[in-house]
Amino acid sequence: MPASPLDALRGIVGPAHVLTGVDCGPYVVDGRTPEAVALPGSKDEVAAVLLAAAEAELPVTPWGGGTKMGIGNPPQRLGLVLALKRLNRLLEHEPGDLTATVEAGITLGALQRELGGRGQWISLDPAHADEATLGGILSSNAAGPRRHLYGSCRDLLIGVTVVTAAGALVKGGGKVVKNVAGYDLPKLFIGAFGTLGVVVEATVKLRPRPDADRLVVARFAQLKEAGAAARAVMGSDLLPSALDLVDGETLRALALGGPDGAALLIGVDGIPEQVAWQCAEVEHLLRPQGLADARVLDGDARDAAWRARGGLGRGAFAETAAVMKWVVLPAQVADVMEQGAAVAQRAGLIAALAAHAGVGVVEAVLAGARAGDATAIAGVLTEWRALVRAAGGQALVESAPLAVKERVPVWDDPGPALRIMQRIKSQFDPAGLLNPGRFVGGI
Ligand SMILES: Cc1cc2nc3c(=O)[nH]c(=O)nc-3n(C[C@H](O)[C@H](O)[C@H](O)COP(=O)(O)OP(=O)(O)OC[C@H]3O[C@@H](n4cnc5c(N)ncnc54)[C@H](O)[C@@H]3O)c2cc1C
Repeated sequence: MPASPLDALRGIVGPAHVLTGVDCGPYVVDGRTPEAVALPGSKDEVAAVLLAAAEAELPVTPWGGGTKMGIGNPPQRLGLVLALKRLNRLLEHEPGDLTATVEAGITLGALQRELGGRGQWISLDPAHADEATLGGILSSNAAGPRRHLYGSCRDLLIGVTVVTAAGALVKGGGKVVKNVAGYDLPKLFIGAFGTLGVVVEATVKLRPRPDADRLVVARFAQLKEAGAAARAVMGSDLLPSALDLVDGETLRALALGGPDGAALLIGVDGIPEQVAWQCAEVEHLLRPQGLADARVLDGDARDAAWRARGGLGRGAFAETAAVMKWVVLPAQVADVMEQGAAVAQRAGLIAALAAHAGVGVVEAVLAGARAGDATAIAGVLTEWRALVRAAGGQALVESAPLAVKERVPVWDDPGPALRIMQRIKSQFDPAGLLNPGRFVGGI
């Protein structure tokens, strides 16, 4: 990068908060090192940095915790990484209104700890809470198992402040739960992967923390039985907060059994009497469905199981070859998991498969002796995508080595929506400087 843009950046954020050369090592994306990293300390500094970058025609990549920077097409040029970790404050907490306004670089873990002191939480539980930032979570539309009952980012985001590619600060939504005026700007930024603007602040809806919180691990001999059991739970009076269907390899990775069989991970929270009733009812309901055994976990054992489940992509195997995310109808989940495992096995690889069964999101982790073989991995991912599409769904490569990404498209075909997305992109970022080329359709 020429000296003048670097000098401009140093003038804005201070020399100590501009990294170059080997100091950029932690911010590599798909093998490419950024030309510089800037760490602004306020939203006004973010705006000034973006303006300076626009003047220098420098591509900008926002960076939260970096846990999902593997998602996306490999960057053609990695110019300036805009790291948001210094924007990490809880700005306002209104316990009576059940809302909070936070800076985008706060980690989910830090936010939950602050809210927890007042008996509240934001009902999102994606993986790696102590690294993932609220800005990154919103930008990649992340949700964890409790999305089953509590919904996803769309249901919880009330307002956002973003900095546009041209360096303007723009506010959308509001600070109260009832927002009636204006366009729904916040939703546009959910899952936009930093291609439309940089989220600097967010106002979110909160909930009171439940008094009791249990995890029922209901084990079955066959994935098919566990899939049928998931449907039985959904059709019953039970109201679990999470309903994950996991295969034997996932059970092994979670230290809950395996590698044979399958299980439902059923989260139940609320007032103690209600939770106790639901735990007992799960067993009654599932015994005729072939339930082999049910264990109720609480406290540290429950937390460790959910943490391991969230970390499946990194932790299922000593060496992960690739991770794919499938979105299918809930009724198709067990079938595509079975077929997907068979595809991996035929190719001499192994898969750990786990799904949010009620919303139809499957995480497919691939490993095995041929894990260094890009052609074999790409072959499995291609077959997986074909079977998911045949079931009416979509498949996204969440992480894979560069040699695999060169053989398999990261994103699935968005269809006619692509033209609308391109139009929106050209309005928000006409020069194409925000995460260029990484998103769907080369946006
Ligand atoms: C499609 C998808 C679905 C997912 N679903 C789940 C799930 O069901 N369960 C689960 O546990 N996890 C899920 N995740 C994982 C989850 O996304 C990550 O744990 C978390 O969102 C990443 O936060 P981070 O701070 O590490 O972001 P990073 O990895 O740093 O950034 C993620 C993306 O957001 C951009 N970005 C970061 N900060 C900002 C900002 N302030 N403004 C604008 N852009 C920004 C980055 O440029 C990048 O494109 C999902 C991820 C994706 C992509």
